[in-house]
Amino acid sequence: MTKAIYPGSFDPVTKGHLDIIIRASKIMDHVTVSVLENPRKVATFGIEERVEMLELVTKPYSNVEVDYYKGLLIDYAQNNNVKIIIKGLRAMSDFEFEFQMALVNQKLNPAIETLFMMTNNKYSYLSSSIVKEIAGLGGDISSLVPPEVYDIIIRKYQ
Ligand code: ADP
Repeated sequence: MTKAIYPGSFDPVTKGHLDIIIRASKIMDHVTVSVLENPRKVATFGIEERVEMLELVTKPYSNVEVDYYKGLLIDYAQNNNVKIIIKGLRAMSDFEFEFQMALVNQKLNPAIETLFMMTNNKYSYLSSSIVKEIAGLGGDISSLVPPEVYDIIIRKYQ
């Protein structure tokens, strides 16, 4: 069985994330979307809120599960006996950091592979930060996030 982990902050989940989740779920037997704390970023949404939003948007996909982990991604993969980490790539700016992370993870555990999926052209500009910036300034985010989580995000900024 091919099992993969798709890790991220998902603060909050966007249509770009969901696109990767759906595409990964088609080529993997099982995908765990895992919310991980990123020490470089201060989160706007709590872990429970981010998990709840991911559960709402992934409900239709029976081989997708949502989880969270406070610690090293490679430990999480190892504990769950998962050998594939999925990452989305938007632009060259993502590449440098993701390249470094993939190589470090390879060093920590050579049995775990990182697979990169190219963003859908439609979402190449999309990030959680841009969603938050627009929502914070009262802009329309309805085309950027899945409809199931729109209200939850908007409520945060009222
Ligand atoms: P961000 O805060 O930048 O949106 P996350 O940590 O939540 O990033 O992202 C989790 C994963 O999803 C990362 O592998 C990231 O590269 C990927 N990702 C984020 N947005 C997109 C997008 N629009 N298209 C493809 N992949 C994406």
